[in-house]
Amino acid sequence: MTKPRSLSVSLGERSYDILIGTTVLAQAGKLMRPLLKSDRVIIITDANLAERHLARLQRALDDAGIRHEHIVVPPGDGSKTLDQLGRLISRLLDLKVERSTTLLALGGGVIGDLAGFAAAVTLRGLDFVQIPTSLLAQVDSSVGGKTGINTAQGKNLIGAFHQPRLVLADTSILTTLPRREMLAGYAEVVKYGLIRDAGFFHWLEAHGADLIDGERAELEHAVLESCRAKAEIVAADERECGQRALLNLGHTFGHALEAETGYGDELLHGEGVAVGMVMAFDLSVQRGHCAPEDADRLRRHLAAVGLPTGFADLAPRHWDVERLIAHMGRDKKVSGGRITFVLVRGIGGAYLETEVELDEVRALFTTALNDADQFALENETSRMTTRATLGS
Ligand code: NAD
Repeated sequence: MTKPRSLSVSLGERSYDILIGTTVLAQAGKLMRPLLKSDRVIIITDANLAERHLARLQRALDDAGIRHEHIVVPPGDGSKTLDQLGRLISRLLDLKVERSTTLLALGGGVIGDLAGFAAAVTLRGLDFVQIPTSLLAQVDSSVGGKTGINTAQGKNLIGAFHQPRLVLADTSILTTLPRREMLAGYAEVVKYGLIRDAGFFHWLEAHGADLIDGERAELEHAVLESCRAKAEIVAADERECGQRALLNLGHTFGHALEAETGYGDELLHGEGVAVGMVMAFDLSVQRGHCAPEDADRLRRHLAAVGLPTGFADLAPRHWDVERLIAHMGRDKKVSGGRITFVLVRGIGGAYLETEVELDEVRALFTTALNDADQFALENETSRMTTRATLGS
């Protein structure tokens, strides 16, 4: 079997490895065996993954002589609730987990965040292993130890920093991921290039479409480079006191759009991030800190792979600027009433900015919405012209 590629997250005694490859799931038992405190694990997964990949993981655990049980929760962000967390913990206690039991999170970011939080608080802390199955989870959420759930007041407002003992990213699992989810995860890959690695963004311009199509070498390279970037940032600032906040590029705007659309199917997290990153570039251009060509280059790349870049690409609805701004004010990144924005000096040059006036954001949203209206009008005019020409 091919050897997985590996890198580590350096956090002293909480350090751990990220193993990436196409045989990682088949070798999961063997790979995690040395880290387990006992021979018993509990797999936490969602119904989609249970149907497609659970059996392979169970076989891998059997091969290594690891005893296992599993708990299945409903798929989707709707499972990141206090209610679902309560049920999950109650089930774990019914199964008589002990301090030596390890939880395995087999799923996307939802399962990683929920199972990770359950691991953080059950019996005051259990070990857990991340087996991320969505592109978003492989390049972002499974690394770094942020776990948590949503409440009526907002996303991820309850949670804990709890690092996994190991991350097993098997890129072959992504073959069953719906394309729209793959694209949403790709937005987070692009983010790493934009934050601090113009060379990686350049590489993505050439290879992004291939990796989204599931090309093995390209996919592995992108997951490895993304994890490397995240691991370095997390190692330098585990608790987000400084530079880790750069990982929120596009997220302050994106979260406002997600909050307005109800965190559902209308707008996936990564789609919100894609539009949000364009807005962060536009705001940087508006403030004179970034060349307009860089914002155009980002727009062109996202559009080329099929990601939304502005309101015109989203499902039609009435967007209210003041409501969007109010959502931004409820974000976790607000401190002393001021929103911290991640802005850019260009591709690969992100920085934190707390001195943004709300009127600047108002102007940005208003321009973006006017552009979308103009686009819709031009589309309608061209449709009518075509119809008239065909009819004549
Ligand atoms: P998700 O976990 O809901 O997965 C998306 C959908 O794809 C689900 O329906 C899931 O069942 C399905 N799926 C996943 N892998 C599959 C596969 N291989 N084959 C078929 N179907 C598959 O969502 P996500 O996009 O992975 O994660 C989003 C969540 O991650 C959000 O809750 C967000 O807040 C969180 N997040 C956390 C962090 C962090 O640092 N902890 C970072 C970014 C995002």
